Amino acid sequence: MRSARITAPNEPLQIAESDAPSAAGEQVVVKVRSAGVCHSDLHLWEGGYDTGGGFMKVTDRGVKYPVTPGHEIVGTVHEAGPGARGFARGDEVIVYPWGGCGSCPGCASGAENLCDSPGSLGIFRDGGYAEYVLVPSHRYLARAEGLESDGAASLACSGLTAYTAVKKAAAGSPRSLAVIGAGGLGLMGVQIARAVTDSEIVCVDIDDAKLDAARKMGADRAVNSGGGDAAGLVGGADAVIDFVNAPPTAKLALSVLRKRGRLVMVGLFGGAVDLPLVTVPLKAITIEGAYTGTFSAMEELVGLAREGTVKPVVSKRYSLGEANEALADLKAGRIVGRAVINP
Ligand code: NAD
Ligand code: ZN
Repeated sequence: MRSARITAPNEPLQIAESDAPSAAGEQVVVKVRSAGVCHSDLHLWEGGYDTGGGFMKVTDRGVKYPVTPGHEIVGTVHEAGPGARGFARGDEVIVYPWGGCGSCPGCASGAENLCDSPGSLGIFRDGGYAEYVLVPSHRYLARAEGLESDGAASLACSGLTAYTAVKKAAAGSPRSLAVIGAGGLGLMGVQIARAVTDSEIVCVDIDDAKLDAARKMGADRAVNSGGGDAAGLVGGADAVIDFVNAPPTAKLALSVLRKRGRLVMVGLFGGAVDLPLVTVPLKAITIEGAYTGTFSAMEELVGLAREGTVKPVVSKRYSLGEANEALADLKAGRIVGRAVINP
């Protein structure tokens, strides 16, 4: 099979030829039809994250190069192992890529996405920029019949993460919700917030094309924060989801948050901010993180997509051989919503 692999940070992905995997035990081999291109693939390709005071290497967090990226995967079952249940060759599936060890506290609570030793596909194990992917268990498959496959791929990460973040942000029934970043995650966040909350939604980005898309997805107001007084234009917010989470957006979020407000940090753009400590108790704000989501949340989201409540935005499609162009286009901000690789 062919796959597009990261061999070293910032080096062009290489198209490799190898034997397709085969399934043992509960494993399932999925023939990939659509693999979403997530900004996290860019961080993986760049080798890590900006911590503000340094660089957190993905190889220090358990990533081993070469690795095949791609954690938003839709395809058909190619081979089910002898212990795999409920799926047969040809079934259309969405892969839950955030599987864990199964025994740590996170996994025991049902949140395998927060496993202490994660086995995520496309990060710690080979992912979907390939003709075939090995899924560790039938338990990580959801049915995709009736869904358009390129859009459905988004449900495994951008949609799922946005769904988790919106649920956290909506916990205090905010009258106004600011969504910062209208990229792959943010546009899903706007739609999901529209679907599951009554909040006024203000979307913030530095790119007018993305803000136009956000209005179409249901944002009540769109603010370009690239100019002057972004905080003034946003006004106060009872909740903020920061899908960028870099110094300018974190500062904006903290400045617009009202008393009792809730800030949900999602983006991995990185950096650091000085936080005046007294503001947290004086305003009684909550700051929390959101990382992907659980398998059951993904199934709920698949239900919303099937009803047509959530409609993933796919604006560009690439072949496997064009994986480098896909990443370059995302990095340059040329993608509205999601780009998808069709191996
Ligand atoms: P994307 O590239 O599709 O979108 C990023 C958006 O942010 C773009 O619209 C861009 O114009 C906007 N932006 C950039 N800088 C900005 C600024 N200073 N102010 C306002 N807007 C700005 O990226 P994506 O796939 O949506 O991912 C967003 C981030 O979330 C990435 O860092 C990604 O790695 C991370 N991520 C986190 C999780 C999680 O579980 N926490 C999951 C997936 C992705
Ligand atoms: Zn992702």
